Amino acid sequence: MIRLFLLLSALIASLTHAGDNLQRIRFDQQGLQIQYDRDLSLRQKQRLYRWLQQITADFVVGFGQLPRDRIRIRIKKTAANEPVPWGQVNRKVTNEILFLVDPDFSFDDFASDWTAYHEFAHLLIPYRGSGDLWLSEGLASYYQNLLQARANRFSEERMWEKLLAGFERGHEDREWNGTDLESVGDNLGVTRQNMRTHWSGVLYWLTMDTNLRTEGKHSVDSLLADLKNCCQLQQLPARQLVMKLDQLAGFKSKDPRGFEHLFDEYRSSLSMPDHKPVLQRLGVEYRSWFGGIRFDPDAELAPVRQQLAQHP
Ligand SMILES: [Zn+2]
Repeated sequence: MIRLFLLLSALIASLTHAGDNLQRIRFDQQGLQIQYDRDLSLRQKQRLYRWLQQITADFVVGFGQLPRDRIRIRIKKTAANEPVPWGQVNRKVTNEILFLVDPDFSFDDFASDWTAYHEFAHLLIPYRGSGDLWLSEGLASYYQNLLQARANRFSEERMWEKLLAGFERGHEDREWNGTDLESVGDNLGVTRQNMRTHWSGVLYWLTMDTNLRTEGKHSVDSLLADLKNCCQLQQLPARQLVMKLDQLAGFKSKDPRGFEHLFDEYRSSLSMPDHKPVLQRLGVEYRSWFGGIRFDPDAELAPVRQQLAQHP
């Protein structure tokens, strides 16, 4: 609560001139620098600032801190049929996120858009930006949902509905079944298996998070915080990332409980892995005839399920 108050009081800063195109958001020792497109009006910039303030605050609630200590945001104006038609982490300039926005959308439209949660979550790992794309996309898609639930943007039920719907979309990408996930995900321009790529990745992180929390010593949250502390300015290939996470978790090389072991299993998977066993252990059941989700309070890992939607 105190941290949140500090955050809110630290966020008070305003643009006073239409010609101001740079603005900052600070939290403790961390900070965001926003660079606006010159074509935006003062009012539009104020609306975008409020949106980024909210995303930042939600990230701090949901993860305990921002994913990096210094983040640069570049905002470019476009015309589209949604508020944020494009977001991308720029790996050439460390820690930069580019957003294309249509500034005519309302604050509420921006606030309910998921793109910024996804792009900020990409910065949770110091990934070099190529190779085993599924690992990075899976992490961003996993956290975009956790963060919104943890910040009460939607309920725990809604979070699981979204995850389950995503896993099902992943299974529907069957065209390249028989080809390994690494090849399918690193050639999306040809394969177009975006859903299999993203949702295999989400299932990887959910499975690791569940296993770690079941053991009780670590979580993906705690290990990503450790990874930030050691390595936020590096740019690592996917395998080195998972090896580093194993080291931080105290797993020996190729430990069957570890990140690298499951990484090898997933990258060579020939179709979307089955999501049902982990959801069953967590007590998440889908009632298709009623619609919606049912939680089994007696499930083996019901307490772990609850932890995932709560801030750390
Ligand atoms: Zn992404």
